[in-house]
Amino acid sequence: LIAFLLYLFYLVSPIGQLVQSLTQMQNGLAAVTRIEEIAQLPAEPPVSVVAGGGAPVGVTFTDVRFRYADDRPVIHDGVTFEVPVGGMTALVGPSGAGKSTVFGLVERFYEPGSGVIAVDGRDIRDWPLDELRAALGYVEQDAPILAGTLRENLTFAAPGVTDEEIAHALARTRLDDLVERLPQGLDTAVGHRGVLLSGGERQRVAIARALLRRPRLLLLDEATSQLDAVNELRLREVVAEVARETTVLVIAHRLSTVTGADRIIVMEAGRVRASGTHEELVEADDLYRELAATQFLVAS
Ligand code: ADP
Ligand code: MG
Repeated sequence: LIAFLLYLFYLVSPIGQLVQSLTQMQNGLAAVTRIEEIAQLPAEPPVSVVAGGGAPVGVTFTDVRFRYADDRPVIHDGVTFEVPVGGMTALVGPSGAGKSTVFGLVERFYEPGSGVIAVDGRDIRDWPLDELRAALGYVEQDAPILAGTLRENLTFAAPGVTDEEIAHALARTRLDDLVERLPQGLDTAVGHRGVLLSGGERQRVAIARALLRRPRLLLLDEATSQLDAVNELRLREVVAEVARETTVLVIAHRLSTVTGADRIIVMEAGRVRASGTHEELVEADDLYRELAATQFLVAS
């Protein structure tokens, strides 16, 4: 009975009300913080429930034109190029050339005004969207590390992967030594609430995250932030290794990536101006030669 009276007192008294409103306020604040966290994340492609896996695929653009909203054309003149199956193709060019837009078009975030984009020889409009997205691994430029553990960061887009698969992805992205260094290993909090990772580590976590979805084509928008020599070497090794297993299309900002590519497509102002190997392009293309001379370190 005393407890009941106390409870009644709690319900009707100003103190009880104050306690209640404080609790509500706290809940409200927690929700706001959570919303802020979510709002800070860049738009993620919807996570596909369809499993990836399967043979590597290529991409072709045939006479593709595109503009954002009513803006001026971003991809003009009917862009045509081929990314063959397997190996590494690099996309280079100055800032604003349309390189990231090409990725958005392959992912079907946008529809071209005209022309055909085909993945595995099939018009992407004929692919069920979830199957298309499952076939593609997309590592965006300066990909985010979410607040949470390293394991969560690796698996949120690939639920159900085994520890063995995680270990394999970590080895392929040269991150196994990082895991050994972290106090709780894979279960260490990383990101802005935990251990801060270097630019090179963040990028390799993003690649490992994409690999765990077993993409048939990896779209890699290389980070623009400068990497130290060790991280640059590791990135080069990782990309080369991944390109042995699947098709890699990389927007390259550094010469070390480009010289390792099997072929290079040079874009400028919404057009493909040349393609070939590094040696061929140094001979044949002024813009490429200029980009190579400045080490490709252009912010785009
Ligand atoms: P790159 O990756 O080669 O630097 P982008 O594909 O990001 O080039 O951009 C190509 C052009 O499209 C630029 O002029 C850019 O300002 C414009 N652009 C990019 N994204 C958008 C968008 N979401 N809305 C409108 N214009 C955009
Ligand atoms: Mg870009």
